[in-house]
Amino acid sequence: MSCDFSGTLLHAYLDGELDAMRAAEFERHLETCRECTATLGAAESLRSSLQRAQLYETAPIGLRNELRKNSARSSRVPRLGRMARRSPLGAGLPLPLPCS
Ligand SMILES: [Zn+2]
Repeated sequence: MSCDFSGTLLHAYLDGELDAMRAAEFERHLETCRECTATLGAAESLRSSLQRAQLYETAPIGLRNELRKNSARSSRVPRLGRMARRSPLGAGLPLPLPCS
């Protein structure tokens, strides 16, 4: 037996994605549906285990410094080259000024 709500609303409820009315509707459903209650409990338990697990590694300081250096280098605003200063037509005409 499979409840329709377990496939559609349960994970949205778990992730806090339901609006207040839909969340209240799902909570009323939980009072009578053992399947959703059990599935929600299992999902909350899994989420809790994953949050407690040490799943992230800290990068070595040398790698972090290298990444920061490369990031700073790539985020610099490029200088306008000779072609970029020309008009789109490439005729060396100045770019039109905006109307005031
Ligand atoms: Zn259900």
